Amino acid sequence: MPLSKQQIDTLLTLVVNSSADAMECDGCLVNVAQFAEAELMGASLCESMKKVQTHLRNCPCCNDEYEALLAALEFVEA
Ligand SMILES: [Zn+2]
Repeated sequence: MPLSKQQIDTLLTLVVNSSADAMECDGCLVNVAQFAEAELMGASLCESMKKVQTHLRNCPCCNDEYEALLAALEFVEA
């Protein structure tokens, strides 16, 4: 059965999105603490931190972890 145009579009979107977000959740969570500190200090982001940032934008699950961590860090520094 040939794919419909809509199915092809859906597949293409999946492929494009997954290559734009090359990082897995595991790789993101390993670096998320470093990313949160860099953000808090207003440090410029290196390549691996930019990958974390991209992943957080695309992954609500990791973004929740990040928000919780950020709140904890702000609490500690206050
Ligand atoms: Zn994730």
